[in-house]
Amino acid sequence: MSGLGISAPRLLLRKLHQVMAGHGDAEQRLNEIVRLIAGNMIAEVCSCYLRRAGDVLELYATEGLKKNSVHQTRLRFGEGLVGDIAARARPLNLSDAQSHPQFAYRPETGEEEYHSLLGTPILRGGRVIGVLAVQNRTRRSYTDEEVEALQTVAMVVAELVSSEQMVASTEFSDAAGNATLPHHINGRVLAEGLGAGVALLHEPRIEVVHAISSNRAMEMARLNSAVNALQSSVDKLLIATNTLFKDESKEIFEAYKMFAHDKGWLKKLQEAVNSGLTAEAAIKRVQDDTRARMKEITDPYLRERLSELDDLANRLYLHLDGRSQIDRRNLEKDTVVVARNMGAAELLDYDRRRLKAVVLAEGTRSSHVAIVARALGVPVVGQCADVRDNVEQGDLMLVDGEHGQVFLRPGDDVRQAFSRSQRQRAQQQAKYAALRDKPNISKDGVPLKLNVNAGLLIDIDHFPELGADGIGLFRTELQFMVRSQMPKVDEQTELYSRVLDKMDKKPVVFRTLDIGGDKLLPYLKTKPEENPALGWRAIRIGLDRPALLRSQLRALVQAAAGRELSLMFPMIAEVAEFQEAKLLLNKELTRAAQRKDGPPTKVNVGTMIEVPSIVWQLPHLLKEVDFISVGSNDLMQFFFAVDRGNPKVSDRYDTLSPSLLLLLRNIAEHCEQAGKPFAICGDIAGRPLEAMALLGLGYRNFSMSSETLGRVKEMALSADISKLQNFVRGLCQSRDHSVRDQLRAFARDHSIII
Ligand code: PEP
Ligand code: MG
Repeated sequence: MSGLGISAPRLLLRKLHQVMAGHGDAEQRLNEIVRLIAGNMIAEVCSCYLRRAGDVLELYATEGLKKNSVHQTRLRFGEGLVGDIAARARPLNLSDAQSHPQFAYRPETGEEEYHSLLGTPILRGGRVIGVLAVQNRTRRSYTDEEVEALQTVAMVVAELVSSEQMVASTEFSDAAGNATLPHHINGRVLAEGLGAGVALLHEPRIEVVHAISSNRAMEMARLNSAVNALQSSVDKLLIATNTLFKDESKEIFEAYKMFAHDKGWLKKLQEAVNSGLTAEAAIKRVQDDTRARMKEITDPYLRERLSELDDLANRLYLHLDGRSQIDRRNLEKDTVVVARNMGAAELLDYDRRRLKAVVLAEGTRSSHVAIVARALGVPVVGQCADVRDNVEQGDLMLVDGEHGQVFLRPGDDVRQAFSRSQRQRAQQQAKYAALRDKPNISKDGVPLKLNVNAGLLIDIDHFPELGADGIGLFRTELQFMVRSQMPKVDEQTELYSRVLDKMDKKPVVFRTLDIGGDKLLPYLKTKPEENPALGWRAIRIGLDRPALLRSQLRALVQAAAGRELSLMFPMIAEVAEFQEAKLLLNKELTRAAQRKDGPPTKVNVGTMIEVPSIVWQLPHLLKEVDFISVGSNDLMQFFFAVDRGNPKVSDRYDTLSPSLLLLLRNIAEHCEQAGKPFAICGDIAGRPLEAMALLGLGYRNFSMSSETLGRVKEMALSADISKLQNFVRGLCQSRDHSVRDQLRAFARDHSIII
């Protein structure tokens, strides 16, 4: 056949257009369409199945199969090859259809003579509303152009079916999606909680309402003006980034610019319009082509580039007719946002009342979006690689941010089980809330400090509800990350003052900027690094760029004028680094002493213990600091040499491994001997079993995400530390991979609630 490649289907499209505009009822026109397709694709058969109530596909028109099977042959979604195409919402291209395990023989159709089959779903508004298939007697494989062409024709059929209401819209159930089968995805918990709502694609998909153009010149003009708008918006972005963004951030925008101006890409779009498609259909067509290429490419760099092209098609679509972005601030229904990945600022764009969960194809627990989501109490499940391929806007989604599971289009059983879990969780939360005013004292009367980690003002707003003693870790970098430019000293001062004001004398430990690694500031010049976690980050940046660190210290000192200030430095690897940082602080304190407002009344200066090397200098360090706080996330990463952001290895070693416990005990022992306060503020402080072990190791001051405070408090109130102590210290000598089971058994035997 001549093929219906991107430049050749003009004739067919013109004929289809005549049919669409012509007389006759919808079924007659559908018959005419399948006849035209069969003729054009030199196929012996072309059949159109439409969706009826109850997820059934009914044969509506055929060229080639027995005519009396029309309206008789019915297949359930998932049944036979046609049902499979509908259920998966994917084209199927088979040279020997009958040998396919899904093949379901329907004698009334007479299709046993046909060997090859090419079928594609008919989609409307992202929903499968039917299947279009061609068949040939010979065993042939259909070309990519033919697959694309059939998809284009399916767009036209979709238009006919809905404009003529060939099937009542009520027959398409609302809960059914693109692929209609329930789908379950395992991911990773990035932020705890349970959330349910309808899917909203962060990167919206292109919806084609009219596939065939009635006025080619007009469609070309629409396309061209959208292209111009896209190009100028990308150019503007680049100009803005030239001053603010440097190096690798700029590269991303340069790549966008390159693609937006890419002649090949633009030519393809124009050719598609020239072939008779509307601008929307042309963009979709070219995007489908990019996606098909993406599937075959394994090279991560190239895949990334192609996915930029994919994003660009979405952006172009948004520029058609001057349409703008979806209104993220006003969502109509409870919503689950689905994205490849997103920045913290983008998350903050969404309407908080309606945003129930986020599902990411990528993302790690320590990514900005995850940290901010935890602060907001929005559950996030990440690393769901194929989520975007399986979800359609409007699909019901249940997000289990306790176990890292996502349920797409769930059946009744799953929905009921999920509602039960939500109820249980609400009861748990109520139970924790009831504990709020109880003093933080263990069962055997040991006073404890239960603090929370924070970083956004919203955290402080919620602070009074938590029953926490204070903020044990204020991650100042979050404020830097959610901005498009470096906050000035005044702005920082104002922010820190507000934190201190709102906390009303309750303790807050500010951590100085911990950027680098995966926490990149778009406006800070950094070179791409091979091992960013081991690279130029945290205090290393602060000491190499003293002006940056000093401006932050100045803001902190000014904000705390006349009151107490506690601050700590991240990633200190040797005493000399602490001394250098302290020197910068002293300069700011001297400066503040000469100012009208004066210095803070008291300054407590500490370090985080995150790099194992500093543990060997603790006797020296403890002479110089006022306190220390163990950052177990990084400490564990460096101790075991496991990248905390790499899912392949991040769980390889247990947080309850004897060697890590021994290290933590060692730190505690040094501090006890030196009489210096010590705390722990990594993720393990917020896990009841781990926190129980920490109590046994001597830790009394914990700082955790607010979400986990209730659980840890419940555990602590039920724990008899005197009994725990010997047991846990004994476990440090174990040779096992983990002592988790032993700790669980201890908790059970001693009625400790974990
Ligand atoms: C840590 O490393 O444990 C820590 C608390 O810091 P962050 O998670 O912000 O790196
Ligand atoms: Mg850290």
